[in-house]
Amino acid sequence: GLMQAELIAVGTELLLGFTLNTNAAFLSRKLAELGVDCYHHVTVGDNPVRLKETLVGALKRSDCVITCGGLGPTVDDITLATIAKTLERPLVLDQDILTQIRGRFQRLGIPMPQSNLRQAYVPRGAIILPNRIGTAPGFILPLRKKILIALPGPPRELEPIFITQVLPWLEKRASPEAVLISRTLKLTGITESEVDEKVSDLLKLKGETTVGIYAHPGQVDLRITAKHKTKAGAGHNIRRIEQEIRKRMGALVYGADDDTLEEIAGKLLGRQRKTLSVAESCTGGLVGHRITQIPGSSAYFVGGAVSYADAVKSGFLGVPPGLLRKQGAVSEEVAKAMAQGIQKLARASVGLAITGIAGPAGGSKEKPVGLIYIALSNGKQVLCRRYTLTGDRSTIKWKASQSALDLLRLYLSGQLQ
Ligand code: AMP
Ligand code: MG
Repeated sequence: GLMQAELIAVGTELLLGFTLNTNAAFLSRKLAELGVDCYHHVTVGDNPVRLKETLVGALKRSDCVITCGGLGPTVDDITLATIAKTLERPLVLDQDILTQIRGRFQRLGIPMPQSNLRQAYVPRGAIILPNRIGTAPGFILPLRKKILIALPGPPRELEPIFITQVLPWLEKRASPEAVLISRTLKLTGITESEVDEKVSDLLKLKGETTVGIYAHPGQVDLRITAKHKTKAGAGHNIRRIEQEIRKRMGALVYGADDDTLEEIAGKLLGRQRKTLSVAESCTGGLVGHRITQIPGSSAYFVGGAVSYADAVKSGFLGVPPGLLRKQGAVSEEVAKAMAQGIQKLARASVGLAITGIAGPAGGSKEKPVGLIYIALSNGKQVLCRRYTLTGDRSTIKWKASQSALDLLRLYLSGQLQ
């Protein structure tokens, strides 16, 4: 790109490792999409001398310097004063910001602390970036040849300000040679090496469009990245590769970018006007939790049971005690009986059941740690799948919840083989 940006994160908590610098990751991704090159990330503590040094260095080598953090009202928030001092710009009181901050405290019904008055000052000549979530506004300060942008630290304040106010401003000025866009396809029910085998030629692509593979517990991501003169051109190249991947991987691709399995499964339930109930043993309620994380899930999720002990599996869900004795709680027969039991009990369209061994103890030669059965009943038919998952206790629980939600997704979308 023609413009080079540099990020300065301000905050001692970042240097001490108490806060992860997620703003740097967010801003870098957005800048890349704009076609703005970013060659340096700097983190500096709440120290005026070192921040000044950092600012001076950054403004020497980069066209656009973006700071985040240190705009708050407390004594350790030194970014505003240090910028003013370093650039020899006087701070001027902005009546609009003052009114906004006063209004916030009035609505909260508490008197405005004197320290918040400091947040109504901005360097002379700055373009103010109002903050609708918090009190500290950000600002863009155009310098003779450079641009300095100061943003508040909390991601939930920084992100909307950047997207709605900074991006459009930069877009007009960046005149990039190329934009960088990526799209992530998400797969589950397959290992990283199996995916790797099927798309190895795409992973070797060099040049304007590339594909990367990233494994997470119970999930494999394929990220397509395209660099092109225009946004439309980059989009076209991404779609071309996406189609090829979807052709090869089929139903294993459950979504893209921010999609989650619980959201996809929930949408299918909602569209088909079906209801869901769950009976969970080794996942301890994780599947129910994930489903209820989705706003509006009450339209399709009726409830379930954490049926941990055999007594609850039989007494509550109606799993025959003989079955538990003969086959054991971790078995295809018991999983099926759990799914049928909860479906009937909750009068749901679908009953989903999970039973397994999360470890680290409780495994045997025939039934090792990580052995999981997941069953699904619609009141007429019941089906069951067997999984052997690896990892520690919480990883196995997570992977089991992935498998359960994926089984539900495949069933609802008619893709179960
Ligand atoms: P500050 O504006 O420096 O007072 O920061 C306020 C809060 O924003 C901090 O306590 C952090 O929780 C968060 N924060 C600040 N900088 C960052 C960053 N670079 N990445 C993620 N969170 C941050
Ligand atoms: Mg701070």
